[in-house]
Amino acid sequence: MSQNFDVIVIGAGVIGVSTAFHLAKRGLKPIILERKQIGYGATGSSSGLVRMHYDLEVESQLAWESFQYFRNWGDRVGGECGFRRTGFLHIEPTHHETQLHKNVEMQQRIGIPTSIITGADVKKIAPYFKTDDIAFAAYEPESGYADATLTANSFLTAAKELGAVYMQDCEVTAVQISGGKVTGVQTTRGDFSAPIIINAAGAWAGKLSDLFGVSIPLGTWTHDVVHIRRPAHIVDHLAVIDSSLGMYFRPDSGNLTLVALEDDTRFDEPAEKELGYVARDFVDRAIDRICMRIPAMEEGSLHSSHVGRDGITPDQRAIIGQTGPEGYFLATGFSGTGFKIAPAVGLCLSELILDGRSKTIDISGFDPMRFARGEQLKGENNYGFIWRSAST
Ligand SMILES: Cc1cc2nc3c(=O)[nH]c(=O)nc-3n(C[C@H](O)[C@H](O)[C@H](O)COP(=O)(O)OP(=O)(O)OC[C@H]3O[C@@H](n4cnc5c(N)ncnc54)[C@H](O)[C@@H]3O)c2cc1C
Repeated sequence: MSQNFDVIVIGAGVIGVSTAFHLAKRGLKPIILERKQIGYGATGSSSGLVRMHYDLEVESQLAWESFQYFRNWGDRVGGECGFRRTGFLHIEPTHHETQLHKNVEMQQRIGIPTSIITGADVKKIAPYFKTDDIAFAAYEPESGYADATLTANSFLTAAKELGAVYMQDCEVTAVQISGGKVTGVQTTRGDFSAPIIINAAGAWAGKLSDLFGVSIPLGTWTHDVVHIRRPAHIVDHLAVIDSSLGMYFRPDSGNLTLVALEDDTRFDEPAEKELGYVARDFVDRAIDRICMRIPAMEEGSLHSSHVGRDGITPDQRAIIGQTGPEGYFLATGFSGTGFKIAPAVGLCLSELILDGRSKTIDISGFDPMRFARGEQLKGENNYGFIWRSAST
């Protein structure tokens, strides 16, 4: 016999649990169905950068709204998210200087604490950095990073306290649709019914969406990360997206620095494929790259490396919204950047479901059907795609 709920959320990544939390807060009774365990997908391997610098205004808005959660986590959600304020620097190649200025102006209009600083200013706040190639950078003094697994677990705990139900080892294998409306799902742990079903299945969401008769252009993005033990005299540093050198890095606990590359992506590996280990030359390339920005890292040593995988769309922006049978919603395709916006995505999706539109931030641009119409989201002052494969 089927158990009844108000909403079925498929996937206990940070997006699914944030959405369940916000729905439960509004009085609904959601069930979260997870084929493995919470954080099994991209969330569990996320680098956790929390910053507001984007070239698309709605993404900056989502990041800024989410930031109100990260910095007031105990009051907003309860428990911990592991947010640590380190300051954040966004470096673009010099040919993007105009875009950088305009994007910072856009973010300042939103209310985000950010400014343009010079290479000399960078040297003052990051004395270990080599800065002679930096004319300008965007600086966010309040930003930093958080612990994605802890964040997801806190959302889940809070959602359960509000009445949500969580089932792990519970894979959705079939869906029920009647009269053009979703009615429920079949899983490896029985049947569940609800008039609303949210596909928050990360890299697996494309195959799942096919079951609803809705095809989405979702590929996969497989991403390598390395942790380096810093030489003892580099006590701490900023979190940085360094698009000039094609990498991002941030400090981590235990005197470690996390480094990943923008041009190390393996696109479209099957979502089911074992993550395995990092690409053959990745660690050497990442160490070379970080030494170009922090030369003293040459005295560092390798700590560890890992691989993660997210869903990616053709415009490298999320798919959020309703399409196909009535009651079917998607929140997927976060393209390697979804962690920091997860609180606001859950809030906005709960508004879309309960109020018919998202009032806090207009998320209609993430419409799942934009690709079918031949449209793609593009930054107003576009930097181009973040992620590139190593061979291009
Ligand atoms: C290595 C790495 C580094 C990253 N760094 C950052 C960063 O610094 N900042 C940032 O903002 N973002 C970052 N991201 C991106 C961010 O982590 C993801 O966008 C975000 O975690 C996606 O969350 P999700 O809930 O959509 O998906 P996931 O976390 O992948 O969760 C989806 C869940 O659905 C489950 N599932 C799938 N199919 C089924 C089914 N049929 N039935 C039941 N359950 C199912 C899966 O088991 C999984 O647990 C990074 C991602 C990776 C991989």
